[in-house]
Amino acid sequence: MVEARETDQPFLAAASSAVITPDVRNATVYMAGFDNNRVAAGVHDDLYVRCLALRAGERTVELCSVDLIGLSYDDVRRIRKAVQRLVPQITHLIVASTHNHEGPDTIGLWGPTPARSGLDPKYMDWLDGQIAQTAVRVARELQPARLVLGRSHCPALSLLQSDSRPPYVKDPYLFALEVQSWATGKVIATLVNWSDHPETLGSENTWITADYPHWVCHYLEHRLGGVAVFFNGSIGGLLSTTGVAIQDPETGELASGWRKAELIGEMVGQVAERALQSGEALQPSSWIIRQKTIFVPVENPRFRLAQALGIFQGRDVLYTAGRRDPSFVEKSVPGFGPVHYPTGRDARSEVDYLQLLSRGRPTMEIVTIPGEIYPELVNGGITRYFGADYPDAPPEPILRPHLKTPYQFILGLGNDELGYLIPKAEWDNQPPWLQGRNKRWYGEINSAGPDAAGAVMENLIRLIEAGQFGPGPAAG
Ligand SMILES: [Zn+2]
Repeated sequence: MVEARETDQPFLAAASSAVITPDVRNATVYMAGFDNNRVAAGVHDDLYVRCLALRAGERTVELCSVDLIGLSYDDVRRIRKAVQRLVPQITHLIVASTHNHEGPDTIGLWGPTPARSGLDPKYMDWLDGQIAQTAVRVARELQPARLVLGRSHCPALSLLQSDSRPPYVKDPYLFALEVQSWATGKVIATLVNWSDHPETLGSENTWITADYPHWVCHYLEHRLGGVAVFFNGSIGGLLSTTGVAIQDPETGELASGWRKAELIGEMVGQVAERALQSGEALQPSSWIIRQKTIFVPVENPRFRLAQALGIFQGRDVLYTAGRRDPSFVEKSVPGFGPVHYPTGRDARSEVDYLQLLSRGRPTMEIVTIPGEIYPELVNGGITRYFGADYPDAPPEPILRPHLKTPYQFILGLGNDELGYLIPKAEWDNQPPWLQGRNKRWYGEINSAGPDAAGAVMENLIRLIEAGQFGPGPAAG
């Protein structure tokens, strides 16, 4: 853990971006997020890594967002190692994915068949290198800066989110941050944090695109200048652009496809711009950085089978009692034949909690969530239903009531993608289904298991409250 020390050093910032679009002409690119074997036919708009570095006191925090479905913790640690070698002054690096459903498979689950990985090792190496190089470049371009913080929960935001599973709890909050050059007043970067699955183009589209986050960044970069960085938030349960109806102001018709993605992005960009216009200017003086390695119980047989089939290409080895556990049993799986079925208990992951202080006062917070968290775990509203598998499970601790400032940046898919984080009381993998529905609800199939959310939330809340309850968890 790194705690704050006040210094007179100026607040510094820098930002940059780089293209991470796969080469669809010379390689077969499997697209992530819907069914297997969706091969990219072309590129509509480029995918980017966008990094923002903020140095306060003697610590530099770098926040990178990638237009991808998710990156596994193994990739993030590899990127951190490469960056650390070149720029040891970076105190902490976060890499989060926008959860784009219209980009390449960077997890492995969306290959030509369920038995074959969608990962391209050559692309993954290049990708990790592009992210690391961008982070390094940004850390070397730091300049004196000012910070403006904004937030919004304007009702239009929740109209851009469809929610397909009870309880119908959304996360409409938008948080924005702008850094301006001290010398010129020009915008160096804007950062936006809001929650919605980028799947506007749907499962039929075969053109690579960053979906609505492309248009959020496009809008802000054209209006304000500098580099725009978008971070997704609590998108489980399932907050999505799919079921959203938007009227095109130019035609009066309901928008669909590319135009719909553009309109959603523009609206989110406009809300962020307005939030910053009425925002609060601050002069940060130091960071508090807390990071914790966590172990998340994996129950999902689909994830274990994928590992047995080599879908993750060596990533995501399981752990038991905090140690690597490569053990397996011989098992015959219908449709797949005999496999080495892994028997370790947990996935290793990480949660982070950061505070930015101005004159000793906490002014903004950053939390990383290593997956797609159900909004009721963030905002409250966990509900007990007829049909739940664990009707008496105690509710997990809720995130926002533990946060200390009005500016609560919750970075979904931060440093990892463990799938859905579902409240245990709402877990429903066995009939009868929640609320007596005649078929299963969507969610559990893409979750590590019923205890995953508890492992993340309990560790996170302990990390947040560490300063108030004696010594905190081990330093990262
Ligand atoms: Zn998802």
